[in-house]
Order: sequence, then C-alpha cells, then structure tokens
Amino acid sequence: MQGESTYAGLPCVFVRLTGCNLRCTWCDSEYTFQGGRRMSVVEVLDEVSRQSSGGGLVEITGGEPMLQEREVVPLMQRLLEEGYKVLLETSGERALERVPGEVVKIVDVKCPDSGEGDTFRLENLEALAAHDEIKFVLSSRSDYEFAREFVQRNDLGARVNAVLFSPAFRKDATGARDSSHCLLDPQKLAEWMIADNVPARLGLQLHKFIWDPAVKGV
Ligand code: SF4
Repeated sequence: MQGESTYAGLPCVFVRLTGCNLRCTWCDSEYTFQGGRRMSVVEVLDEVSRQSSGGGLVEITGGEPMLQEREVVPLMQRLLEEGYKVLLETSGERALERVPGEVVKIVDVKCPDSGEGDTFRLENLEALAAHDEIKFVLSSRSDYEFAREFVQRNDLGARVNAVLFSPAFRKDATGARDSSHCLLDPQKLAEWMIADNVPARLGLQLHKFIWDPAVKGV
C-alpha cells in the first residue's frame, strides 16, 4: 500500500533496493542498509509481474535506489514499457537527471533535525517535472521553518505536483499507534501550515497507522 505521497492509499508493488549513504535519525528502513539478494533486471520484472500483472503502480525505493543508478534506470525504463506507473522515492542527494521523464519522482529534502540537512543536491531542482513531488519529513518547529523557507525561496509550489510536509514517526512505535507516535504533533503542524498559508499538503504515513512499523513489504 502506497503510504506517503498523493498516491497514498493505492495498492503498489515496492521494489526496495539495499544500501543508503545517509543515516537519518528517524530512518524507518535501517534494515535496508545491508542484506537483500542480488537480482537481475529481468528477475525483478518477473517478480513485479507475478505480484501485479498487466500494469499498476510500482514504487522504486530503498535505501537509496539511485546509488544503483546504472541498473535502476534501465529497470524503470522496462517497467514503463510494460505499462506500469512508476514512482521513484529518493533522498534528493543523488543526481536525478537520468531518471526517465515519465517516472514520478518523490524527492526528499532532508531537514536539519534528520541529521542529514544540507544533503539536498540543488541541481535536482532543474530535473523536477510538473508531475513530481517534494517531501519534507519534519520533527520540530525548526524543521518546519527550514521547510517553509526552502519552499518559498525555490518557488516549489509552482514547480511540482505536490509539496508534502510529513511529521516524522518515532522509531520505537509498536503495537496500537496514533498521532502521539509522531515526533511532531500533526495538529500543531496543520495549524502552522494554515497560519502561514504554505503551498504544501500535510501527509501522514498512512501505512504506519495500518501496519506495525516493524512489518516489511508494506
Ligand atoms: S535516506 Fe531514507 S533510507 Fe537513507 S537513512 Fe534517510 S530515511 Fe533511511
């Protein structure tokens, strides 16, 4: 289930690639830093087709998928040719100009309290298309102010389909979950966004309210 973009709530096949060069403090995918198994592009295509034959939504994610650019670009191209709608979730730190134009890029801009602020590659702004989305995961008021100013300074509202502001989720949240497990209260964030008239959409990580955050593959 796609959980954190304007595609949230839609069934989606995830292709999750191993490895990341960042270490965000609230990372929910640390299990991807190592492990996994080697698969050829054809093997990945077969597995996607087994799970969703005849098209549908496929998200390429990680880890950081663009660390494997040489393999992942041809994979995205083949998925498009097979009729899939392809989303790419990326940290924004890697170059994106070689991503096929039909792919919807969901690009993070890391905020200071992630511990990986200043990693966004500013040249990636030029690689954005009107159907792309930019996401800020926020854990404090100072993260919010950073995101608000970045959006204004770079006129992001006019560049992409959606600017997403999403509260970070606590890594230790298990069992029954609600918004109290967010590092930043969603109600406060909503009130700030309304007061400042920010051209952004509040996003909650839908999958974390449905499945236990420890569950993989959702
Ligand atoms: S970029 Fe993504 S996978 Fe890498 S550390 Fe940050 S949240 Fe985790």
